[in-house]
Amino acid sequence: MDAKTYKQELLEQLYEPYKKCNMCPLGALGRKSIVFGEGNPNTKLMLVGEGPGQREDALCRPFVGRSGQLLTKVLEAIGLSRDQVFITNVVKCRPPNNRKPLPNESETCTNLLLFKQIKIIRPAIICTLGASAAQAFLGNNIKITKIRGKIFKKNNLKIIPTYHPAYILRNNRELENFASDIKLAKKKSTLD
Ligand code: URA
Repeated sequence: MDAKTYKQELLEQLYEPYKKCNMCPLGALGRKSIVFGEGNPNTKLMLVGEGPGQREDALCRPFVGRSGQLLTKVLEAIGLSRDQVFITNVVKCRPPNNRKPLPNESETCTNLLLFKQIKIIRPAIICTLGASAAQAFLGNNIKITKIRGKIFKKNNLKIIPTYHPAYILRNNRELENFASDIKLAKKKSTLD
């Protein structure tokens, strides 16, 4: 079995027992899907957002709503397709009314799924999108405007935090910085 097929198989095995997960409160708060993530399991670049929104929940795919469309455009503008990276979220279930995931929800889901996805994929770079995703790796005392576009090493992982694309939809001035952070992540992951 080649490496790609092998990692895909491991990801499927990881997902299987959690397809109806109720390990945190989000399971009982109206979610339809467990949005595991998608892309190339053999990639060197992983993108991690906060949690599924309404469209992601409906389609069981990460980043396919308005912020996802912006993210896809920026990836394409720097020469990356969604198929070349792996895209997922801190929590796999939609928080009600798109509120931020609560600490116990993030902690449960990252331990059960996100950190295991990372162990399987072993990306060279993890690009976190927004504060919740940065906090899952770097702790709660971060300020995105201070840390974005820098490289952090934590637990053998290399993290490049940037803004959440939803923030860019509201603050177009930061679009260039957002794109240059993702470009840096591409370069450092050697997907260049
Ligand atoms: N926002 C996120 O953080 N993740 C998604 O998948 C969609 C919107």
